Amino acid sequence: MSQHFLLSAAARSLSLATVARMSDEEAREMFKAIRWADNNGQPYCPACGCAEVLAYKCRPLWKCKGCGHQFSATAGTIFASRKLPIRDYLLAIAIFCNGAKGHSALQLSRDLNCQYKTAFVLAHKLREAMAAEDKGAKASGSVEIDGAYFGGYVKPANYKANRVDRRLLENRTGKRRVVVVMRERQGKTLTFVANSEGASVDTIRERVEIGSTVYADDASHWNALHARYLTKQIDHSVCYSDGEACTNQAESFFSRLRRAEIGTHHHIAGPYLAAYAAEMDWREDNRRASNGVQYLAIIDAALKHPVSQQWCGYWQRSAKHG
Ligand SMILES: [Zn+2]
Repeated sequence: MSQHFLLSAAARSLSLATVARMSDEEAREMFKAIRWADNNGQPYCPACGCAEVLAYKCRPLWKCKGCGHQFSATAGTIFASRKLPIRDYLLAIAIFCNGAKGHSALQLSRDLNCQYKTAFVLAHKLREAMAAEDKGAKASGSVEIDGAYFGGYVKPANYKANRVDRRLLENRTGKRRVVVVMRERQGKTLTFVANSEGASVDTIRERVEIGSTVYADDASHWNALHARYLTKQIDHSVCYSDGEACTNQAESFFSRLRRAEIGTHHHIAGPYLAAYAAEMDWREDNRRASNGVQYLAIIDAALKHPVSQQWCGYWQRSAKHG
């Protein structure tokens, strides 16, 4: 059997310059090689799995001999009903991949010379595909747990006399959410969004395997974890690490997410907070892979991901509903 395309030398050495020089035909060949890597790059029917397909002569489409289904290289994937030439999707991914702190939709629209709306949806589709890798995954072994709050900033009034106590519930905007990270030492990072750290405990119980050792700071809501896991808490007012008990890896994830917030997006709170957290989680987990490998992993994830319920036709829907 021939080598998996993603593992080949040609795949590892891919760069933005290589992609930029590709013709649309070459780009399509690349999509084929990645999407159907398990069949030596030969298309098979996405509807019924039949390998007997007919290629159309004048259009880049195939027809299944088994069920008659017609499909393109991107049909049924997150790139379905695409608006840009196929090569631009490869370019978008290469550009998106290069930004360690993420890449804003505005920058992407300038880079690709496409509408902001197109770039916004494309970037979110990529995040959705990246997030899908962690879907249903559980953390085990030594797991660091921590939370960080995003959004709901209340600007202090100019005069001190007019300022309110921003710690009080009634003075908050209600938009503050916490990103909770569960990070295996020497392993994967999982994230989710909750209303408060205290409200995240049930999800942690579901997503961290029994038998794991959990490391957290000394906040009292983490005490509830002792009943289920061997839990080691560290009092950050005393020290950040006593050799074993620490949450340094969880915090290094948050420093990445904060850099993305401050340096790239300026604002990541609100409905898409979980998506940005998942993207940075993916980047953290893949930080040691070469650029070419990261790039191919994103394309692979995107081509394995079905049509996005959330993002396919997003602007058409939002226009209709005002
Ligand atoms: Zn078929």
